[in-house]
Amino acid sequence: MMLDYQSLLLALGVSAACLMVTLFGTWYSRRTDSFLFTLVIALGLTVSGIFLYSSYTVDAGPVIASFAYVFLMAGFSVIYAASVQFRTGEKPWRLAGLLSLATAIPGVPLIVGGIDGLGIILMNIATALLLAGTAWQYWLAREEAPVPLYGMVILYALSGLSFVLCAAVLMSREQWILGHAPDNWAENLNIGVCIAGMTGIGALSLALHQWRMAALHRREAMTDPLTGLMNRRALFEDYGSRVFTASTAVIVFDIDRFKSINDQHGHAAGDEVLKIFAADILADIRSSQAARLGGEEFAVLLDNVLPGRAERIANDIRRRFGVRDIKVGESILKCTVSAGVAVGTPQGQPFEIVLNRADAALYDAKRAGRDRVEVAGYLRSVEPTESRTSA
Ligand code: GH3
Ligand code: MG
Ligand code: MG
Repeated sequence: MMLDYQSLLLALGVSAACLMVTLFGTWYSRRTDSFLFTLVIALGLTVSGIFLYSSYTVDAGPVIASFAYVFLMAGFSVIYAASVQFRTGEKPWRLAGLLSLATAIPGVPLIVGGIDGLGIILMNIATALLLAGTAWQYWLAREEAPVPLYGMVILYALSGLSFVLCAAVLMSREQWILGHAPDNWAENLNIGVCIAGMTGIGALSLALHQWRMAALHRREAMTDPLTGLMNRRALFEDYGSRVFTASTAVIVFDIDRFKSINDQHGHAAGDEVLKIFAADILADIRSSQAARLGGEEFAVLLDNVLPGRAERIANDIRRRFGVRDIKVGESILKCTVSAGVAVGTPQGQPFEIVLNRADAALYDAKRAGRDRVEVAGYLRSVEPTESRTSA
């Protein structure tokens, strides 16, 4: 037995309500991804609209119909706003409010005035446009999580299309005045598509949320929170298995007498110095990679460098930092940094060994009096000054 239109509407309303609860629970447990919360509001409005519309199909009346109209338009407007919010991070409420007004205002007078068919045609068209716009927003965002986002695009587009059909059937039959809810094959198809589409969209929205959270955690686990640079773990993940040839280099920096900065000016001042130094590194090497190895030690990785270039970059950073006035409260402090540079070998050398050589050169720089750059030889024990000639 086929389910009648009324039962299908109720099924749609109930599954939308269930989805709303699920999304709310997911959002509530973390409260980071607020586009989920926006979808909860959208579903709340839509579910109210569906139940109002459902009672309108039984007991036709312009007042109920108008309320259904307003709630459904608001619901779809918020769905669109949630997609904009997902893509841009903007707060959705202004846009949602404007769209709700823009879509509800033309229709309600038609319903109340008895030209309900035309009103419902307008509602179907507005809904189709909002759903197409929603599909477009997720399409624009597709890079972030292609699999769930392509799914969302397809489902929103198909749902939108089913509303176009509803409008098309009413228009082709010139049913400008109905006196009751429309009842034709397109309406039945529309409900079926909406039930399937909404269930799929709900599942994909959850998947999208998980995707985003996982990416966020990955980023957090790889970033040093104080300086925003990569942390040691990220550096080893990216470069740990790489081989360094003669055109690649590692610079290791260690701020001089940093402990005494902490002791004299406090830990917060020390943190400020670390941030300033990290910004200095980034300003100089832009496209290369920089990491905070821990404490006041930093590493810079350089690709495609000619001989002598790494040492020059290290010296540029050192000099610039050394002359900087660092404001700490009322006082100004000066600070220097030492660096060790190691260039890969023509045959190639594992990252860890190059890093160790740079570290040893740094140790030399410290022993030689700090505020200087030392370059590691290829084979330190045999020819400690081999590549120390500056270009
Ligand atoms: P040297 O010139 O030989 O490098 O002397 P130093 O004092 O810089 O060397 P040392 O490694 O003994 O001191 C490093 C200090 O850095 C010790 C520690 O308290 C401090 N430190 C480590 N991490 C942080 C941090 O995140 N913030 C601040 N403010 N201090 C830190
Ligand atoms: Mg130090
Ligand atoms: Mg140190």
